[in-house]
Parts: sequence; structure tokens; C-alpha cells
Amino acid sequence: MKDPGGGRILPAEGSAFRRVDAWVSAVRAATPEATAILDGDRRVTYAELDREADRLARMIAARGIRPGGAIGVRMRRGWRLYAALLGVWRHGSAYVPVDVSYPRARQDHIIADSGMRLLVEDGEGEGDVALRVLAASPAYAPLPPDTAYVLYTSGSTGRPKGVVLRHANVLAFLDGVVRTFRFGSDDVWAQFTSPCFDISVAEIWIPLVTGGRFVVVPEDVASAPSAFQRLLADRRVSVLSQVPTVFRYLLNALEEGGTGLPLLRQVLLCGERVEPHTVLRWLKSGIAPAAKVFNLYGPTEATVYATWQELSEENLDPARSSTPIGRALPHVTVAVLEGGRSVPAGRAGEIHLGGAGVAWGYLGLPERTARSFLTVDNGTTERWYRTGDLARVEQDGLWFEGRTDTQVKLRGLRIELGEVEALLHAHEDIREAAAVVTRRAHGDPFLVACCVPSSASAAADVPALRAYLAERLPSYMVPSRFVELPALPLTLNGKLDRKRLEELVRPETA
Ligand code: AMP
Repeated sequence: MKDPGGGRILPAEGSAFRRVDAWVSAVRAATPEATAILDGDRRVTYAELDREADRLARMIAARGIRPGGAIGVRMRRGWRLYAALLGVWRHGSAYVPVDVSYPRARQDHIIADSGMRLLVEDGEGEGDVALRVLAASPAYAPLPPDTAYVLYTSGSTGRPKGVVLRHANVLAFLDGVVRTFRFGSDDVWAQFTSPCFDISVAEIWIPLVTGGRFVVVPEDVASAPSAFQRLLADRRVSVLSQVPTVFRYLLNALEEGGTGLPLLRQVLLCGERVEPHTVLRWLKSGIAPAAKVFNLYGPTEATVYATWQELSEENLDPARSSTPIGRALPHVTVAVLEGGRSVPAGRAGEIHLGGAGVAWGYLGLPERTARSFLTVDNGTTERWYRTGDLARVEQDGLWFEGRTDTQVKLRGLRIELGEVEALLHAHEDIREAAAVVTRRAHGDPFLVACCVPSSASAAADVPALRAYLAERLPSYMVPSRFVELPALPLTLNGKLDRKRLEELVRPETA
């Protein structure tokens, strides 16, 4: 694994392993004393991480839990959280992250729906872990063999759905990105994203299979751009993965603070449409002269990133509504289809993703899975994921054009408007409801709930509605504004007129 020319560790091929944790073990065996994680003042070596993961795996087995099922991890951010994720894999089980900040009802849904038998939590003592054995849930749906993780994402019917990814998916993804971007043992990553979102899979496991390290970004630092920029500089971060909106806040802080990031090598923008004006500002600023900036597009259902495009002044045009997302990474195949046929150059269609990155499906939701995942028989059976994303095919790759449905992104976080609407409809004081995204002229987009009260004489109790939603939805899904309307606008054929609704709630007109 050693590079004969230098000290750099050359990553092994992902295909040499059946599980991601085996790949991490190979790195540990090669460089046990190398730093794997920097968590505040704590430096965790590969050997230590491995020991802690093994200890947890033994503790889980001692509770009588058999490998192969789901195990929840509900822990605050810190190096033991990552040891727990690795420990769950060492035990031969699949991890299901449960965010401690989610409301109880959502946590309970994830716990019951995944059929997890055990929850790993922060223990009483400093740095300790606690295991909570759970009663078998009646909704238990078995996981396919070698499931790596189940991530819950917003569901249009009112409940989040669990996307099931197997080790083979993750190995193919890691192998593909490591070779494409030549990530290696000299890279320092920032672990910014909650393990509930798949960008964390890149931020945690790419460094750990390449002998690199990652810096844990504490939650208070993640929400304070000026503190975050200091951490990037102090910890000599070389690879930064960011959601475009959050990247803009960071750029503002860097410009204000006059700080440079000379060691930054790669910026990976992902999770939502890039903002051309922000990237152009960044490129012109000279803040990180050595850094290349990439746009990475992909849904959780095709394992983190699916396509990539380097961004430059040539392909960034703030006047265009579409943004370049480039071409497929090695673990996926891309087809852009309209009416089942590939669209010619210059035309737009729906992005379909095939190949080794395609997820197993949604846990316990065979019909929903069948609607989104297509099986095609071309001599061999191929599985494709219908993304609901629109792209135009150009000579230089794909250009992202938006969605076919009402799924939206706020700060990179995926929200099915239907999930918010289903909860509003279920409230007795609401007759009709719709959720829309709007924005102020130069501001960030935000969510608005439009409600028609059940009783024409009584106004909706907004604080009570907000509290009702906050008890059921993570904070990023709770609308910032509530607008009461006598009726929802309809199109000529009687469907909700979302365009009209957006006009009605736009801050300048409302
Ligand atoms: P998630 O499963 O949370 O990663 O969300 C996936 C969705 O986010 C995709 O289906 C797209 O709608 C959107 N998305 C992700 N990356 C990009 C990108 N680089 N450009 C535009 N949209 C993106």
C-alpha cells in the first residue's frame, strides 16, 4: 500500500473487500499509529479507533444481539460516535443514525420502522457508551444481507422513509470517488454533516479508507462561520465538503476575517443547486488559490454523489438558471429519459441512475420502492433509480434543471412538501393546507405553510400549529411563516396552483 516514491499511502482497491470495515482494518494494519480523527484536543489513532469499535462490537454481542439487523446510534458528535458506527459494522450489523436533536415522535418512528433491536447512546460518564436493548417492533421488516446503513429521508406521504444501502453500494462509491479525485493519506477532511445525511458517508469513510484523517466540527462551530473558518485554517483542512448555502456563509466569514486557506486542495459542493455567483466570488477571492471546486450531484438512493463537474469561470453563469453537474462517477450509470427514451443533446429529461451505487430500496415500503426503482431486463437484470431530477444533456455533460415534483432543498436538507402538508391536513383546525418555498430578493429560501382554517369564523392559532409541527418534524422542516387564506388557489383543472400560491406568499407581495 506504500507509494514507492514517497510516504503517501496508496488506497487499496475497494473491490478487494466485501465490507467497508474490512477496508478500514486494512488501513489500520498498515498505519496503526496514524491519526484517524481529530476531536478538539483529542487525537485518535487508527489503532485506538479500531480498539474502541471492537470493544463496542463485543458489548453488542454480549447483549445477545445477532448480526445482520439494524442497530441505532443516537449520540452527540464526537470521536466515539464514529467508533460506534464502525463498531456496529464490526458486529456485522447495519447502523441507523438517530439525530438527538429530532423531536421524540420522529426518533420513535425511526426506531420502530427500522426494527432496530438495540440503540447505542452516550453513557453517563465522560466518553462512555450505553446500550439500550429494545423490544422487537411489530413493524419489523428484515434488512437485506450486508446492509451498511439505513438513512431516513423525508417522505411525501407524511412519514420519513428508510433508504437501505448495502456495503457493496458503499464500497463501489468509495472506490469510485477515491480513484476519481485521488484522495489519499495526506488529506485532512472536515466532518461537518450529521450522520443522518449521506454527505457524512463521504466525510467519514473516504478519509478512513485512504489512511487520511478527519476533524470533527463541533455543532456550535458548524453553525458559526467565523469559528468554522478558524478551525479549517488551524487544522490544515485540505478537503472540504459543503452545501452551497452554507458555503456562502463561510465565504462571507472568510472575506470579513481576511483569512486565507492555502492548504485547501478540494472543495466539494453538494446537496443542492450550486450558486454560480458565490463560486465565482470564491474563485476570484484568492482565499484558497490551490483549491479546485467541484459540483457533486446525487441522491441518497444512489450512494452519496452520482455525478461530478469541476467548476470554473467558463461554466459558471449567474444569469443561467441551470447549473453544470457533469458526468457519472464510476459507481453509477446515468440515463436522461423522457417517455422512456434517452433525450437527444440540448433537451431535458429525468435523470435515472443505474449501476453499483443503486440502493436496495425503501425499508418496508415495497410499493414505494417499485415506483422509484425500476428493474430492466437487458439480458442481465439492471436496477435503476428514478431521481425526479431534471437535467439537460449538453456536449460538456449534464446541466441540472430542477425537479419533476414538490421535493425541495433548504440548506441542502431534503424536504418533501407533501410530508409537511400531510401533517397540516391531519390537524383538526385545518381544512386545507399547502407548503411552499419562497425567498426575499437577496435572502435564502424559506418554508411557508398556507392554511385554510376548518372554521370560517376562527383564525388559525399559529403558535399552536407551530408547536404541533415542531413536535413531529425536525426543525429544518418546520415552516418559518404561516399564512391564512380563505381558499387555496386552483388551476383550471382543479389542481393546487403552486405558482399562484408562491406569488401570494412572496414577501414582496404578501
Ligand atoms: P439527498 O438524498 O438528501 O442527498 O438529496 C438528493 C437531491 O438533492 C437530489 O435528488 C437533487 O434534487 C438535490 N441535489 C443534490 N446535489 C445536487 C447538486 N449538486 N445540484 C443540484 N441539486 C442537487
